[in-house]
Amino acid sequence: MTKGRGGQRHRKYSPRSIDDQRSYPPRHDLSNELTALEGASYGRYKSLRGKWWTGEAELDIVKVQSDPFAPPSRLELRFATEPADLLDDWFATPARRRAVAVLLAKRFRRACRTKDLRIDAGGQEILQRSSCEVGEDGSVVFRLGAQMPGRGRRIDGRGAARLLCTALPDAADAALGVEDDEAWRWVRHADDVEALREAVAERGLVAFVADGSMLARRSGVDDRQMEGGVPFESPESLAVTVELPHTGTVRGMGIEPGVSLVVGGGFHGKSTLLRALETGVWDHVPGDGRDLVVTDRSAAKIRAEDGRAVTGVDVHAFVDHLPSGDDTRHFTTENASGSTSQAAAIVEAIEAGSKLLLIDEDTAATNLMIRDARMQELVAKDREPLTPLVDLIRSMADRHGVSTVLVMGGSGDYMDVADRVLLMDAYRPQDVTARARSLAAEPTGRVAEADAFDLPRPRVIDSDSVSAEFRGKQKIKASGTDGLRFGGSDVDVRSVEQITDASMTAGIGLALEAAMRRGWIDGKTTVAGALDRLEAALESEGVGALLDIRNADLAIPRRHEVAATLNRMRRLRVHQSGDMRA
Ligand code: ADP
Ligand code: MG
Repeated sequence: MTKGRGGQRHRKYSPRSIDDQRSYPPRHDLSNELTALEGASYGRYKSLRGKWWTGEAELDIVKVQSDPFAPPSRLELRFATEPADLLDDWFATPARRRAVAVLLAKRFRRACRTKDLRIDAGGQEILQRSSCEVGEDGSVVFRLGAQMPGRGRRIDGRGAARLLCTALPDAADAALGVEDDEAWRWVRHADDVEALREAVAERGLVAFVADGSMLARRSGVDDRQMEGGVPFESPESLAVTVELPHTGTVRGMGIEPGVSLVVGGGFHGKSTLLRALETGVWDHVPGDGRDLVVTDRSAAKIRAEDGRAVTGVDVHAFVDHLPSGDDTRHFTTENASGSTSQAAAIVEAIEAGSKLLLIDEDTAATNLMIRDARMQELVAKDREPLTPLVDLIRSMADRHGVSTVLVMGGSGDYMDVADRVLLMDAYRPQDVTARARSLAAEPTGRVAEADAFDLPRPRVIDSDSVSAEFRGKQKIKASGTDGLRFGGSDVDVRSVEQITDASMTAGIGLALEAAMRRGWIDGKTTVAGALDRLEAALESEGVGALLDIRNADLAIPRRHEVAATLNRMRRLRVHQSGDMRA
């Protein structure tokens, strides 16, 4: 192991010495300048905009708030390789850089003694965030908000000097002064998770849950691991072992493609397992409890969401012969029912490229899930527009490679179509496939209502319908994980459950804006094609692709979160590929 630089780690940052040898315009000492602004009108803070060289780091005052109540000013603090002083090994791979950046942002937040510096350190997931980036050369940039202090509408210059010239460098120093052991723990974890994802993909599994994982969370509002929970243990029949570079041999439950059914009594941990699989598309911080839970990156949580808008979605496999006579190959509604919203969500997820659907009975529409023998007797098929998922799920897996993990404790009809059945018993999974098979051998009198699922027809977004939102106002605003104000419209994303936090909501908004501006949504490309372009740009350019649009706290979403948000825009217009524009 080699150090980024030879010496010991002593950094002294103070935005004092302005070095005009670096092509920045010569500036007065930042601290003096702030003190000199004491008592001036608040708007004079704007004069600070620009780059300040500090000897150790470069401080860029990117955006200055216009009044004390406006959103915080935006700062970027860049440390070149040597002053950042990370060990070379810590930034050797993209996964390591991502993990170390999250660690540094968390350390920065912890070290920050004032509420006026606001860094987005995120939650339990390791995401690419704008708040901290580690470069291939070991450079580090922090991006954060600063609430510039005022007294009424006047500048508190001495307070500002303390904020930018003491609190900021102290927090950055403390963040970068990470102990080797702590950094190595995150780096090794990043390697192991990356290797685990590769091993899982190589074996053709859709998910893996390591033995010893702690899946339960503290509460609905505290995502940290529950203390005293029951550790996960795979049933022998589903156990696989993988070799990880640092942890070595790890045993766990491997979920094969196809239809996997999770059954069991209420409160036995079914939803907790499914929830772990939902968040397994993201890596977690070490010690989270779901450290070695990974799910196919394309996995989409599907749920019912009555009241949502649906635009031009081909839901005819699930919904046909509506009494209204509406064409369900181009299904559009301002106000979907539970069942049609869930049907649309399935079709949209497949359109966006999902290979694994995750469904929980707790949030599913019963009439889209099942229709049992008695109901088939009572209501003739030609009076029922809905075809339940149970009759399409096999074909989705067999013909299109779209697997499902389904939590269903309340109906046995899925035993007929499941490849494996897992019983959660006091948080411990058991393989009850054989018993379920023998039960399924006894006919219930139920008849299948469909024999094949056809891929939905691809849609093309009318780009005007998205860009029109921006006329006049250029606003993207995230309300936590609930909503996104996108130009002139509000998109309700409460049911897009895999959005992790407000920064991801913001990232989705900026990704959509980038997709408009850069022509990824161009009125000709299919939804999947536009998502391919977006994904490729996010992959190669990272947060820069979105920061170019606006300097903000953001986290990079998957294509699936972007698609799910787009699909919920109420003024979206589409046509189907090959059709005349409607
Ligand atoms: P189900 O979906 O089967 O009704 P849940 O997954 O909602 O059950 O879990 C019921 C309760 O048990 C929740 O409060 C959850 O936090 C808790 N729980 C789940 N898994 C575990 C576990 N492994 N150890 C301890 N508590 C757990
Ligand atoms: Mg449940």
